[in-house]
Amino acid sequence: MNIGFIGLGNMGGPMAANLAKAGHDVTGFDMADVSIEGVTMAASAAEAATDAEVVITMLPNGQILRAVADDVIPAMSAGATLVDCSTVDVDSARAVADQAGSANLMFVDAPVSGGIGGASGGTLTFMAGGSSAAFAAAEPLFDIMGQKAVHCGEAGAGQAAKICNNMILGITMIGTCEAFALADKLGLDRQKMFDVVSTSSGYSWSMNAYCPAPGVGPQSPADNDYQPGFAAELMLKDLRLAQQAAHSADADTPMGALAQALYSMFVEEEGGAGKDFSAMLPRFEARSRH
Ligand code: NAD
Repeated sequence: MNIGFIGLGNMGGPMAANLAKAGHDVTGFDMADVSIEGVTMAASAAEAATDAEVVITMLPNGQILRAVADDVIPAMSAGATLVDCSTVDVDSARAVADQAGSANLMFVDAPVSGGIGGASGGTLTFMAGGSSAAFAAAEPLFDIMGQKAVHCGEAGAGQAAKICNNMILGITMIGTCEAFALADKLGLDRQKMFDVVSTSSGYSWSMNAYCPAPGVGPQSPADNDYQPGFAAELMLKDLRLAQQAAHSADADTPMGALAQALYSMFVEEEGGAGKDFSAMLPRFEARSRH
């Protein structure tokens, strides 16, 4: 298959490399000067999209996605499929879906979970929104880049699933970190705390798979001085998307709002930018000393 791939950063680069390794003809474009094994580089996004049966985008945000879509959609042939794997706002996903539909293209919003390890290992989870025909066109590529793809509904449903998932993740990470900080104050050993909670009703992915306390539980960014992993500013971006969606859908999400406020303070005022999102734990420890 001829595939165009726009946005070859931390995630897009290894995803495109996996498609090329599987035998597809991948033509890529990135604003930055990058080269990816097996991928032919084009001079523009439109050039990468020309003659592609599927064009995949993996970009920082919805505004950039909309700008790239303006270039790419007119270059694509009728019947081709545009697959956006970036994490963006639901409104941008739906706007690009409409624009693609007007040009007789199919569109899937397919944000991912699994991080950089999942991108290079081909073990991402895709959460997809779009028609059944569009999902069917993209599914063989999801199978190469990931281990699971869930068709969540019409356009925008993938982004909706992603921001709901990450709102839960932000909230549970904060809850796990503040519980560790309280346990410290109560004189509880961290290993004992992990042993109890990871097999009790307080368990979660944040505790069990990504424990924010160094030396406790499986290897996680806490064991690497909180190098990301999943950066706190990306978590803040996703929590903002969740609040934006909650506002436009008139949903009541008080815990999501608090999580956004806390990550915003952490990233913008307390030096959390560039650290993993689990560095909330040392943040609570520092606060506890005041
Ligand atoms: P990144 O910054 O490493 O990559 C983005 C790439 O897009 C960069 O290489 C940049 O040069 C390129 N780009 C920006 N504007 C462009 C344009 N107009 N035309 C062409 N290329 C352009 O980011 P990333 O970590 O790869 O994340 C990409 C998306 O995936 C984001 O939406 C992010 O939220 C999401 N995501 C990231 C992770 C993660 O762990 N990093 C996990 C899940 C989802």
